[in-house]
Amino acid sequence: MSFFPHSVNVLVIGGGPAGLATAIAARRHGLSVVVADGAIPPIDKACGEGLMPDGVVALHQLGISISTRDAYPFRGIRFLSDGKQAEARFARGAAYGIRRTHLHRLLIDHAAASGVYLLWRTPVAGLHADGPSIGGEMADGALFNGALVGGKLIRARWIVGADGSRSRVRRWAKLDRSTRQADENRNLRYGFRRHYRVAPWTDFVELHWGRRSQIYVTPVSDDEVGVALISSDPKLRLQAALDETIGEFPELRARLANAEISSSERGATTVTRRLRCVYRDRVVLVGDASGGVDAITGEGLCLAFQQAVLLGDCMASGDLARYEKGHRALLRRPTLMAGMMLFLAKHSQARRRTMQVFRSSPHCFAQMLAAHLGQGSAREHISNGISLGWKLLHV
Ligand SMILES: Cc1cc2nc3c(=O)[nH]c(=O)nc-3n(C[C@H](O)[C@H](O)[C@H](O)COP(=O)(O)OP(=O)(O)OC[C@H]3O[C@@H](n4cnc5c(N)ncnc54)[C@H](O)[C@@H]3O)c2cc1C
Repeated sequence: MSFFPHSVNVLVIGGGPAGLATAIAARRHGLSVVVADGAIPPIDKACGEGLMPDGVVALHQLGISISTRDAYPFRGIRFLSDGKQAEARFARGAAYGIRRTHLHRLLIDHAAASGVYLLWRTPVAGLHADGPSIGGEMADGALFNGALVGGKLIRARWIVGADGSRSRVRRWAKLDRSTRQADENRNLRYGFRRHYRVAPWTDFVELHWGRRSQIYVTPVSDDEVGVALISSDPKLRLQAALDETIGEFPELRARLANAEISSSERGATTVTRRLRCVYRDRVVLVGDASGGVDAITGEGLCLAFQQAVLLGDCMASGDLARYEKGHRALLRRPTLMAGMMLFLAKHSQARRRTMQVFRSSPHCFAQMLAAHLGQGSAREHISNGISLGWKLLHV
C-alpha cells in the first residue's frame, strides 16, 4: 500500500463511480480525501453503459467532460416491442454510451489529479468507534470516527459508504432499514451484459421489450455495442433470451447473428430501494449504497453523480440533514419513472397501447423523455401526463 494519511476529512469506502465522484466533489471544497476499494482498476461492472444528458451535466459540475474519444454519442431512445418501434430525441444536452472501464479510468485520473489518495486492492473490514462497537456494527450511541482500511485504522470526520447496492457500510451503520423490505425482495431483478464487435446501426439507445425481459442496446464505440438484459428471472441469460426458441427479439438476434462477442458476460442485481435515512452521525451513503432505482431507467450513474455533487457541498458545510433532504428530492422523479416503466414491463396490453400512442404522437414520447430527464417545467409535465392518459384511454 502506498503512502496515505491516517487522519482525513473524508474517508470514502468504495471507489466505483459514486465513490470517486464524491471524492472529487469533496476535494473541490478543499477537504482531504482517501478512497479505499477492494478491487483493482479499471473496475468493470454489469451496466447498460448509457450516460443520459442529466448525468453528463452532473459530471460537468465535477469538472469532467466526456469526449468522443472515450465514448459514443447518442441522441435519443428507441422502444421496440412486438415488431413495432417508436423513438424520441433528447430535447437538449448530450448523451453517451461509455464502457464502464473507460468511465472508471476517467474518474480515477480526475480524482488523482485533484489530490485524492486512492487505495486499490484495499477492502474495508469494518467501522471504528472509540466507544464500544459490536462486530463492526454500530453500538447504540456509539460514534464512528474511522474505519479499518486494509487492516489499518484511518480516522475521518466523514465516512462515506459508496460500496454499492449490497453495501456493508449501510448494515454496519444500521441504515439498512429500507421502507418496505418485502417489496424490495419481490422487486429484485437480475441484469446481464456483454459486448458485441459490430458497428452501431443507430445513434439511439434501443430498449427491446420482451414478455419476460428487456434488453438495452447501447453503442459504445465505432465498432462495439453493449447489450444488457434485465429480468426477474435469475436463470435467464442473454444467450437464452436471444435464442430462436424463445423468439422474443428477432430483430436483435438478426443484428447480432454474425457479430463477434467481445466481452465476457457479467451479472448484477438491481432494485428500486428507498432508505428511511441515508446518514447517521458521521456515516453517510451515496450511489447504489444509498438506495436507487431499477436499472430499466438508465439513471443510476446520473443519480450517483448528482448525489456526489450535493454531498461534497453538505460535508463542507457540515450539514448532512440538507444532504438527506436533497437526496430524497433527487430520487423522486427516477422512482416515479421506474414505477411506470416496470408497469409497462409487466403489462403487455398497456405496453402495446403506449407504443401505439408513442408511434402516432412522437411529441408525447419526446415529452415523456424530457420529464424522465428533469427537462421542462412541472406544468408541461402535468399537461403532457394528462394528454398521454387521455390518448391511452382512446387508442
Ligand atoms: C444491468 C444493469 C444495467 C445498468 N444500466 C445503467 C445505465 O445504462 N445507465 C446508468 O446510469 N446506470 C445503469 N445501471 C446502474 C449503475 O450501474 C449503478 O447505479 C452504478 O454502478 C452505481 O455506482 P456505485 O459507485 O454506487 O456502485 P458500484 O459501481 O457497485 O461500486 C461500488 C464499489 O465499492 C467497492 N466495495 C464494495 N465493498 C467494499 C468494501 N468493503 N471495501 C472497499 N470497497 C468496497 C466495490 O469494489 C465497487 O468498486 C445499471 C445497473 C445494472 C445492474
